[in-house]
Amino acid sequence: MDNPFLERTFQIHWSRLSADKVEPAVDAALTEAEAALAAITSHPESAATYENTFLALENATDLLNETWAKVNHLTSVADSPALRAAHNAVLPKVSAFQAKIPLNAALWSRLKAAAAQPAAAALRGIHRRFLDETMADFRQHGADLPPEKKTRLEVLQSELAALTQKYSENVLDATNAWELIVTDPDRLRGLPDHAREAARQSAFKKGHGTDETPPAWRFTLHMPSQEPVMLYAEDEALRREVWQASANIGRTAPQANQDLVRQILALRQEKAALLGQTHFADLVLARRMAKSGAQALAFIEDLHRRIQPAFGRECRELEEFKARQTATAVTRLAPWELGYWAEKLRRERYDFDEEQLRPYFPVTGVLAGMFEIARRVFGLRVTELPVGAVETWHPEVKFYDVHDAAGRHLGSFYADWHPRESKRGGAWMNYLITGGPWPGGGGARAPHLGLICGNLTPPNSDQPALLTHHEVETVFHEFGHLLHHLLGEVEVKSLNGVNVAWDFVELPSQIMENWCWERESLDMFARHHETGAVIPEVLFQRMIAARNFRSATATMRQLGLARLDLDLHMNPVEKMGTDLSVWLRKRLQEYLTPTAPPSPTIENRFTHLFADPVGYAAGYYSYKWAEVLDADAFTRFKREGIFNGAVGREFAAKILSRGNGADPMELFVDFMGRPPDQQALLERAGLA
Ligand SMILES: [Zn+2]
Repeated sequence: MDNPFLERTFQIHWSRLSADKVEPAVDAALTEAEAALAAITSHPESAATYENTFLALENATDLLNETWAKVNHLTSVADSPALRAAHNAVLPKVSAFQAKIPLNAALWSRLKAAAAQPAAAALRGIHRRFLDETMADFRQHGADLPPEKKTRLEVLQSELAALTQKYSENVLDATNAWELIVTDPDRLRGLPDHAREAARQSAFKKGHGTDETPPAWRFTLHMPSQEPVMLYAEDEALRREVWQASANIGRTAPQANQDLVRQILALRQEKAALLGQTHFADLVLARRMAKSGAQALAFIEDLHRRIQPAFGRECRELEEFKARQTATAVTRLAPWELGYWAEKLRRERYDFDEEQLRPYFPVTGVLAGMFEIARRVFGLRVTELPVGAVETWHPEVKFYDVHDAAGRHLGSFYADWHPRESKRGGAWMNYLITGGPWPGGGGARAPHLGLICGNLTPPNSDQPALLTHHEVETVFHEFGHLLHHLLGEVEVKSLNGVNVAWDFVELPSQIMENWCWERESLDMFARHHETGAVIPEVLFQRMIAARNFRSATATMRQLGLARLDLDLHMNPVEKMGTDLSVWLRKRLQEYLTPTAPPSPTIENRFTHLFADPVGYAAGYYSYKWAEVLDADAFTRFKREGIFNGAVGREFAAKILSRGNGADPMELFVDFMGRPPDQQALLERAGLA
């Protein structure tokens, strides 16, 4: 079939990938995958081997995966009505195909038969891992259940999908339903100019503050509108009004989520029980690094205990600061005062404005510096190909080859850094082709193909793209994910690179961010775009100090959310009383900033846990978990040199190149010589 989406060349012909080719390509790839599965189940069980079941299953979806990766990628960077329609037309078919694989009884019986063969029992290394992971994956998705329970599982899945969909619609609708039109300019005192201007334009678009109407400013619950109010508005009543509206999201009709939360928790609990687990957290975490809800909880409680004194000090300090500023007695702050007084304290203590750093971060200098770090630390050579040498999806996109010290072509990647209307928001890494060593290829290997995208500050007519420090961290972060893919040496594609446990996947990305905070590395890539000067020492010191401003409070907020998540997913919903919020408040007492009045808990608008069937439910702890891993692993570079090539190559050999080739805890211990330790994170955050 002549369809460019089905071509498996390393150089992708982007100009030929048109929307009308999507559906025929995906249909053809699905047909091929179905045939490959049928071929596996056509063997009698007695003839099942590791090769004709496990490896055949691995290869069955190769073409589908590559085709689908291109389609998905295009919807992210070159969206159009035709492409979206084509994508939506095939999405249900692809999801249905993937969902029914572990429930395919004939396939499961062949896998079990093959696993029971003496030859399979003798497998070692990556193939042992692949067999074990596949068996565990099928079991976790219900392969071992009797038919009536499989049916119940499918019902649960679809009910959960519908309820979580409704939950997120409620949050979205409630957020969009609220607006505040201000007509008294006196109420805007303290707001930065950009926030006033945005509010004025927003009002104008809605027909307020036009030539025929009085001047007006419109505020909404979307972050760019809400945040400046909470941080800067002198008018306390304005802040209270916005805070109250935000706290009410998901708590009032017609967008009340209380019942949905209870139903979702009950169904998740039933699903866990059906699959033989005590609670939903154990079901989700069994194959992650934390292994169980109890271990994730112990991790959170341990960190909590260690930062509690600092947290108490920060809370008191803020109360005292407000009392001094207002010449009143020290009292509890109201929830709508926290951000406002914290921002005032920050400005008093650190005369630091992020914008001062921008001139030191021209995007070309940042990238050149990052590639130089990759050369020194990991022995990699990153080469940009001349414009036009390779087709891309947009003229702004750049293409790079990556070679190792021995000159092997490890892989290549596209970089697409600035916003466009047809591109989604945020920054991300993804991959299009997984290469790696050929199975039994005697050292031969195929190159990987990946990409990194972002929405960084674009250049303008008279100056290059100058990034914020946060944007620089984002670039390093995504490059870390990319290296995890490109350096993969895993023979089984589905175990390569970033296909690892959720609470491990951010280690390679977050560790790269550390190079954005070291004087030695900054001096290499942070050079003033006009003068070439390095960041002045005073500015550097302020940047470091401001990083840890109220860090115990920021950490405690994350711990509180993780604790709430685990509490909800480790306890039977019928034991939570009639008001979930009351039950949660009691348990979270020690995690919440004391305020008067108290803030309601956020379970009714916590989309991380309830808006997506696969989201962060029982996994919110991963944010802190991964920070512990990256801070801890970076101590080796701190100690042995941040450009130390021996340590870098060890990190590549023991972590980056291994993918999901072994249990992530084993990989970590292999690199560090011991299990993770929270100390380095506490030190980095100034909380040790
Ligand atoms: Zn990431």
